[in-house]
Amino acid sequence: ARKFFVGGNFKMNGTIESIKQIVHNLSSAKLDPNTEVVIAPPALYLLLTREHLGQGIEVAAQNVFDKPNGAFTGEISVSQLKDSNITWTILGHSERRTILQETDDFVANKTKTALDGGIGVILCCGESLEQREAGSTVDVVVKQLEAVNKVIGKDGWSKVVIAYEPIWAIGTGKVATTEQAQEVHAAIRKWLSESVSSTAAEDTRIIYGGSVSEKNCKDLSTQPDIDGFLVGGASLKPAFVDIVNAKQ
Ligand code: 13P
Repeated sequence: ARKFFVGGNFKMNGTIESIKQIVHNLSSAKLDPNTEVVIAPPALYLLLTREHLGQGIEVAAQNVFDKPNGAFTGEISVSQLKDSNITWTILGHSERRTILQETDDFVANKTKTALDGGIGVILCCGESLEQREAGSTVDVVVKQLEAVNKVIGKDGWSKVVIAYEPIWAIGTGKVATTEQAQEVHAAIRKWLSESVSSTAAEDTRIIYGGSVSEKNCKDLSTQPDIDGFLVGGASLKPAFVDIVNAKQ
């Protein structure tokens, strides 16, 4: 069985004080031991988060570069993450794809670099409202995943968690219905089974992101192909604990 996975993406939010508070709340809360929990603060607070966070919760970067080191102003390397005990990174978030113009190929190269360096990847994919209305949701998501598959190969998926995040549901309060989310998750699993391997289809966690809250998480967690969540806004609030504990 796939272990339920809940990530908290703080995005560009927080201060030393507020992040210490969040980390303290999480470390002292009763969390479901059957759920894997990973939080992703802004890069500046990765070390602080790691130092204050209790055992059993991992820390993720929100991005990483695809070169080992050198003259890349403003970037952070995989080995620097490892050096700081950061074991995961988010990659391909729609905010980076749209605002920072990251391409499918760039996301794929960064995924390969992270995996080769022993860092797990929370790989985001998802369609815009326009693409959904045009009926191309699955095509868009598969194209994003194909680019990664081409570069990491069939065996690369064992340390990847796929986060399906429809862009129209991010930060809008407009959560995908359980049926809408399940439908795309099932399509992604079908793609894994046909284009990667039956092992990848069985073992890869596919998590949902987009306006997940303590109110809608339980319903979403009942779906057979929803293996957890990537939580934005609500990961900054005490209610994040309820989302971590959503799975019955
Ligand atoms: P919200 O939960 O704030 O909608 O953000 C989702 C997200 O983008 C997580 O990566």
